[in-house]
Amino acid sequence: ARMIEIRKQNCNPMTMKVTYYKKPVFIHQGHMQYLWDVDGTRYLDLFAGVATVSVGHCHPKVTAAAEKQLKKLWHTTFIYVYPALQEYCEKLASYLPDPLKVVFLTNSGSEANDLAMFMARLYTGNFDIITLRGSYHGGSPMTMGLTSNAAYKYPVANGLGCTNTMCPDVFRGPWGGRHCRDSPVQTTRDCSCAQGHCAANEQYIKQLKETLATSVPPRIAAFFAEPLQGVGGAVQYPKNYLKEAFKLVRERGGICIADEVQTGFGRTGSHFWGFQGHDVIPDVVTMAKGIGNGFPMGAVVTTPEIAASFAKGVHFNTFGGNPVACAVASAVLDTIIEDGTQKNSLDVGTYLMTELAKLRDKYEIIGDVRGKGLQIGVEMVKDKTSRDLLPPEDFAEIFEDVKDMGVLIGKGGVYGQIFRIKPPMCITKEDADFFLAVFNKSIHNYMEKR
Ligand code: PMP
Repeated sequence: ARMIEIRKQNCNPMTMKVTYYKKPVFIHQGHMQYLWDVDGTRYLDLFAGVATVSVGHCHPKVTAAAEKQLKKLWHTTFIYVYPALQEYCEKLASYLPDPLKVVFLTNSGSEANDLAMFMARLYTGNFDIITLRGSYHGGSPMTMGLTSNAAYKYPVANGLGCTNTMCPDVFRGPWGGRHCRDSPVQTTRDCSCAQGHCAANEQYIKQLKETLATSVPPRIAAFFAEPLQGVGGAVQYPKNYLKEAFKLVRERGGICIADEVQTGFGRTGSHFWGFQGHDVIPDVVTMAKGIGNGFPMGAVVTTPEIAASFAKGVHFNTFGGNPVACAVASAVLDTIIEDGTQKNSLDVGTYLMTELAKLRDKYEIIGDVRGKGLQIGVEMVKDKTSRDLLPPEDFAEIFEDVKDMGVLIGKGGVYGQIFRIKPPMCITKEDADFFLAVFNKSIHNYMEKR
């Protein structure tokens, strides 16, 4: 209790977001898919520090690699080449298809997207960027403009914390972030897009064409898309949407950027990168989060041709490609292979989705279950007929109840109405069963009271 008081006094609520308001959780230790608070209570972690701890908290192999490197070399900046840097860039590039072979290392996802945006403008000589509704691409002043979700923008008048209207260089494309009520095709249940003949695809492509046409004279630099929207709430696109969108953008002189900050490193289960599930090869891929299993790290991978445009500009960051970050990230790649992490993401993710769909059919307040692998969204509604949002206080009640029963999940979505499940990818079927029982109980408790 004393610690909570100290924390309350010292934390500025405007700069620190505490997820559990009623009773904050103070975590001090983690191992694989579990976290322990300062009182020794164990939690099953189904949020992984926002889809970041990819192979497991303090995974022994990754920790050992960090320890080894910490004893050898901490820092030089990449004005010198050191083995950890060279080895890692080569290894990461080997995970990407041709011609994506040039690696730039950063410290975060926002920085990676900043750099990608800069690259696109230098390479194409154009200025306009298209991102999609519901997207999240970062919190730096530049990427805040790319991010569509208004909840993550600062409404300042000078355009720095760009709101949609204050960012004329960023056009908002059609897809994403809708409440399942707005568009039945958005929901896994009603949508035929998995079979590749979704009528919505035509509608959204038409809207994208209209958005592209607003760049007058045409000066499209880039199109950014998360292969499966993360913060937006596991929003999926119709099967051919990205493929057609990439074609349209390229026809108009722009390049296509896949933001794999959440979807990369096997999280979607069926593929190592989210874009592979859409049968496209982007011109630039940005990544962070899972790349370092929680160690600060990000990367931009692009083609030699686009990378060459940097000869026209200067890119420097002190910590990007830090030796310890490289050693950690290298061990993460090895661990994903050695532990069968991607396959586990597919198996446990598919199991969770199947079982959550059963709960959706059982309870009036679960409007939709969607996602891929271990990136799952559960959309909460008042009832299935109205599809109105579950009131925030009711949503919070279930959220806190799940935590009190020992499971940490995330929340998100444009309207903040979606439970997000994106655990360390080492969770087991038994962990999934534990969560399903807890989730069932908390919803049952809520329905009893309602
Ligand atoms: N892109 C996506 C898809 C993200 O989810 C995030 C973070 N939530 C970012 C970019 C920004 O990453 P970071 O917070 O590391 O700057």
